Amino acid sequence: MKRNKLVFANWKMNLNFKDIDLLVRGILSRLDVTDGLNVVLAPPFPYLSKVSSLITGSQLELSSQNIFWEKEGPYTGEVSADMLLDLGCRWAMIGHSERRQHLLETNEMINKKVLSSIEKGLKIILCVGESFEQRRRKKTFESISDQLQRGLRGVSENFLPQIVIGYEPIWVIGSGEAASVDDISSVHNFISDELSNMFPSSKSLPRIVYGGSVNTANIEQISRLDNVDGVLVGNASMDCDRFCDIVMKVVK
Ligand code: PEP
Repeated sequence: MKRNKLVFANWKMNLNFKDIDLLVRGILSRLDVTDGLNVVLAPPFPYLSKVSSLITGSQLELSSQNIFWEKEGPYTGEVSADMLLDLGCRWAMIGHSERRQHLLETNEMINKKVLSSIEKGLKIILCVGESFEQRRRKKTFESISDQLQRGLRGVSENFLPQIVIGYEPIWVIGSGEAASVDDISSVHNFISDELSNMFPSSKSLPRIVYGGSVNTANIEQISRLDNVDGVLVGNASMDCDRFCDIVMKVVK
């Protein structure tokens, strides 16, 4: 069965209320055909509600950039799955390398976020990727395997349709230059094999998308790869024209 491609926009801690209003309205007016495609916007937490109301009735979908595993309680500054669902958010991004690096998120914390999100019915994008040092020491596959094994520990096969894996080599994020198509292809194949080994009887394995300096110049080459189910876009997703060009090239 042909699987929907996915384009995920990660706005990180950027933009303000007015920028987001203009950007989302622009995307809505330019992107009318997104059949066979999931286009997911991940604004900062304070703007989720605004984006949710702007995209109601459209094919665009909403994601948080993070989530907390508890349902409620004394967890100052945290946001639960129920709160996100309340806002119309259907996706959560989990394990982005910037959170692993700056907020010291561990695979154990990420695993709790994964389990609590999928049990609540959220779809998730679980980000994995190697550092420059790990790649230099030829530890790319080992590091990604570890992130997958520990991040998805205890996940039952029934939940796999809710899960997308984002392969994001840390050394290319925000660098302006994506990984080579050969590197992307070999890591995507590795992730796919790893998932097949982890879930041997599953008929439907998670989709795998690539992220890291995707732009209008490299998107065609990347999305042509057989084992790439879409892309996760940071910088280029904050410009309406560039983002819509990327989406349309993925659809082609
Ligand atoms: C990201 O941070 O998820 C990302 C892919 O960023 P960029 O496209 O800017 O490299």
